[in-house]
Amino acid sequence: MLLDRVPVILYIAEAGVDGGFRYVSPQIESMLGYSEQEWLADSGIWARSLHPDDREGVLAREQQMASNGQSLDPVPEEYRLLHRDGHPVWVRDDGLLLVDAAGGSRWYGVMTDITDRRRAEAELERRAAQQAAVARLGEHALERVAIDELFAEAMAAISEVLGAECAMVGQLIEGGRRIQLVAATGPAAANVGDSHTLDPGDSQSEHALRTREPVVVEDWTAETRFRQATPHQAIGIASGITVQIEGTDGPFGLLSAHALSPRRYLRSDVAFVQALANVLADAVERERTEAAIEHRALHDPLTGLPNRVLFLDRLEHALERLRRRAETLAAVLFIDLDHFKLVNDSLGHQAGDELLAAVAARLRQTVRPTDTVARFGGDEFGLLLEDVGSERDAIAMAERIAAVFARPFALDSSEHFVTTSVGIALASGGELPSDLIRDADAAMYRAKDRGRARYELFDELMRARAIARLRIENDLRRAIERGELALAYQPIVALADRSVVGVEALLRWEHPRRGPIGPAEFVPVAEETGLIERIGRWVLARACRDAVAWSLERPDAAPVWMSVNLSPVQIAQGGFETMLERILATTGHDPGLLCLEITESLLLDETSTTSETLLALKRLGVQIALDDFGTGYSSLSYLTRLPLHALKVDRSFISTLGAERRSEGAIAEAIVAMARALSLAVIAEGVEREEQVHTLRALGCGFAQGYLFSEPVPAGSIAKLLHDGARLPARRPN
Ligand code: C2E
Ligand code: MG
Ligand code: MG
Repeated sequence: MLLDRVPVILYIAEAGVDGGFRYVSPQIESMLGYSEQEWLADSGIWARSLHPDDREGVLAREQQMASNGQSLDPVPEEYRLLHRDGHPVWVRDDGLLLVDAAGGSRWYGVMTDITDRRRAEAELERRAAQQAAVARLGEHALERVAIDELFAEAMAAISEVLGAECAMVGQLIEGGRRIQLVAATGPAAANVGDSHTLDPGDSQSEHALRTREPVVVEDWTAETRFRQATPHQAIGIASGITVQIEGTDGPFGLLSAHALSPRRYLRSDVAFVQALANVLADAVERERTEAAIEHRALHDPLTGLPNRVLFLDRLEHALERLRRRAETLAAVLFIDLDHFKLVNDSLGHQAGDELLAAVAARLRQTVRPTDTVARFGGDEFGLLLEDVGSERDAIAMAERIAAVFARPFALDSSEHFVTTSVGIALASGGELPSDLIRDADAAMYRAKDRGRARYELFDELMRARAIARLRIENDLRRAIERGELALAYQPIVALADRSVVGVEALLRWEHPRRGPIGPAEFVPVAEETGLIERIGRWVLARACRDAVAWSLERPDAAPVWMSVNLSPVQIAQGGFETMLERILATTGHDPGLLCLEITESLLLDETSTTSETLLALKRLGVQIALDDFGTGYSSLSYLTRLPLHALKVDRSFISTLGAERRSEGAIAEAIVAMARALSLAVIAEGVEREEQVHTLRALGCGFAQGYLFSEPVPAGSIAKLLHDGARLPARRPN
């Protein structure tokens, strides 16, 4: 009973390869499909039933032990026997070899079916291999291996770990209507690049993408749910796993494993392929995000054009190519729209943006695909032309641009005409990219100066001027330390009685070699180079200190105010009011006696920093005057919106006052009337003749300055003048 019931085979067999079995327990039937009688009757049956892969090794060991002639303790051995129906059965064979007195030897043993244990072990191994493969792929994805290599690696893992003859990566294209084979191994490798339409209710691909579930086909010949894609049929694919590669905006595509024979995959294999696909999904996503970030860093969001950074990079490469084969030239065109501010101010920023986008599109259409159109910012565009034969080609392009801009732009349901000022700089390879842009920019400025709607070539004269500018810049850096800067002061008088009520501080530079240089020449350079910040701070401190000194000298006299000119750059940089507060505190100057002169250009580029700073200045209690009023393009709305105290009417409107041309006088008249309506004080600039005083008085203008009263004079002279009574006589300017 025991022998019948134990779940093992007990046996007695003659030693040797052909040794027949003397006894075998009945479990032989359930385990291997043979009856006891069949097994005992056939002396070679055991050796023949050995799995071909194991046979040689097992027989060699048996041979060796049997020929030894000695008894042996049980030696456990694991091998496969083939069931009668052909499927392999793993057995553990514990045999005891006994040699009897006559020299015959026999095996007394037990065979246990260990197929389940073996299968579990194999599966564990497979899973460990799968996990290792996923981890490796994940690591490489983190190391930013290129996406194509990651595809190849995932497919290699599928082939190795699953023994799949073929693996594929398909990517959705055309908005998900088609799928394209982007990578493949095995027989499908030849089809990479092919694409086919995804038919609903058709292939397993469509199903996997729609349900986001893995699809397993165990045997395509018996498959009823899906229709096999023709190329797969042609390859002879018999079974397969298809999983989705996710993406943030819908799936990226599919990863699949295929075998040329049916039923090759286990349940756990699906999870493996999906895990690989998930790593790929992350990598694809990361690559796309990085590409998007890079694109954003190098392009202008409004027009989609390359920005200055990318333009410089392309220019750099173009120059490099020129250096290698120098038979051609390259050209940089700096394009600036004329009066773009007016569009922005009159039609609004929305319309301005629309116009810029339309301009960008038109420029792009005008150039060859190999040329680069970039937006530098604002209404400035750059054009890089490569393979330019001579300057005539660059000029031809500038003319073409003028021609395409002759057509109006449709904006806000009306048509707008836009002209451009274009500066051209040519390069033969030896130049620095930033210098070329600067040269083209300078040429563009000359085009503006000469009336806009035209182009100018950067030439030697301009180069000389640029170099002179550079020299000013270098010298200016040292000017402050060396005490070469000084302030001159020009009195401002009340027109009613010609008493001095204020002075304007005007910057002077006594250059050691070149003599006096006017602010018109060096202030723009200081603004461009950022030096204006230090210079402006010096001017404010000096002016406040001087004013305090004068008032101490004559404590009983009525105080005069101090006007100081500000550059827009000083205010736009931020932190201005903190700096001013410190100067007021250290010098002890009364903020109510400080008047800051700002220009209309500051208001034109009005930013939040600008308006915040102006309000902060108002809180500090300082006065603000708008200088050179009437020469800029500022809209009148600024006058009411910003905390202004005074308008300074530009000299150009004053000089014609009292002359025959009545129209000019009308402008001055209108400005004064408007300022009075807004309760702003009016200061007339550049008063040189007595009749101007009469006219200004008649118009109701309160204050004036000009050579008629006094030229700008050194600080010492002002102190004396104030001391002496401060009423300026009418006098003829020399
Ligand atoms: P602005 O503020 O309009 O200064 C008036 C200019 O007109 C001064 O020229 C002055 O010398 C000149 N002027 C005064 N009265 C008469 C006159 O009766 N007839 C004529 N023809 N001219 C007269 P300046 O000193 O050459 O200054 C030029 C510009 O430089 C100033 O124009 C101002 O915008 C700027 N500036 C001067 N000092 C500074 C400064 O410290 N900082 C900044 N940011 N700009 C300054
Ligand atoms: Mg001024
Ligand atoms: Mg002025």
